[in-house]
Amino acid sequence: MAAQIIDGKAFAATVREKVAGHVARLKEENGITPGLAVVLVGEDPASQVYVRSKGKQTVEAGMNSYEHKMDADTSEEDLLAVVNQLNNDPNVHGILVQLPLPAHLNEDLIINSIDPAKDVDGFHISNVGLLGTGQKSMVPCTPLGCLMMLRDHHGSLSGMDAVVIGRSNIVGKPMAQLLLGDSCTVTIAHSRTKDLPDVVRRADIVVAAVGRPEMVPGDWIKEGATVIDVGINRIERDGKNKLVGDVDYASCAERAGAITPVPGGVGPMTIACLLANTVTACCRANGLAEPEGLTA
Ligand code: NDP
Repeated sequence: MAAQIIDGKAFAATVREKVAGHVARLKEENGITPGLAVVLVGEDPASQVYVRSKGKQTVEAGMNSYEHKMDADTSEEDLLAVVNQLNNDPNVHGILVQLPLPAHLNEDLIINSIDPAKDVDGFHISNVGLLGTGQKSMVPCTPLGCLMMLRDHHGSLSGMDAVVIGRSNIVGKPMAQLLLGDSCTVTIAHSRTKDLPDVVRRADIVVAAVGRPEMVPGDWIKEGATVIDVGINRIERDGKNKLVGDVDYASCAERAGAITPVPGGVGPMTIACLLANTVTACCRANGLAEPEGLTA
């Protein structure tokens, strides 16, 4: 059976369209323009690319984009002062501090200094707790994107067996919480999991968030399962640089019912969900109805 390809690029375009429509209505009916502030410390090349892309897509959706670029040797005090200023700025509805931060800065301290209502990355401890207890929260963008694609493909996820490979705070754990929230039976696998192939073979839904190129082979996949590949790994093959996921796409696509490609799967959904979270935060801040279909 050839798997259906879940086209994250096309799906992300529909999410961005919905966001832009909602932004236009907020401007017209309420005189409000949502604003997203991104703080970049240092000159990590990959972070610079992400931040540029976020800024461009924010403006394309009709929102205000504020960029704060700070030197790599910025002190914790100076960074906290910028976050505090953004927390108090009524034109800023979403704040994102680009990770990773330089080693001398305490990431947890910085993230937890963001106003939870403006924490569009969903990493603040309050949002983690709210998500874990099934309450309204800001949801981390990558798992939110995965959930949207799964809901779009399956309708209801209720009762499905889901295996999330990876237990990071930014992908694995929130993904598992979201799947649990949609009434899946969830297993979280990690580097100490025994018999990983057998665990994965039970799954109707496999979310791979490991960071190991093509680690999951097709014979771990149950016939007809849905495979969501979060991995972004740069490898060299046949003398060329290539992006691959955490699953071996060719062999997994032979057994899966549906699969996300890399690139063009989960990746584009992450920034689309960041824009969605910014609109959601803006609506909540102003006591307005939240856009439908853009939150968990
Ligand atoms: P982390 O490195 O933080 O976590 C990786 C997880 O994989 C850990 O829980 C680790 O287990 C587990 N793991 C490592 N090796 C194995 C193994 N052999 N078997 C089973 N589990 C294993 O990564 P992230 O969650 O941050 O990212 C995962 C991937 O997703 C990366 O490729 C990253 O680039 C990508 N990513 C993509 C995004 C997107 O927008 N598409 C956004 C964020 C990440 P343990 O805890 O035991 O060490």
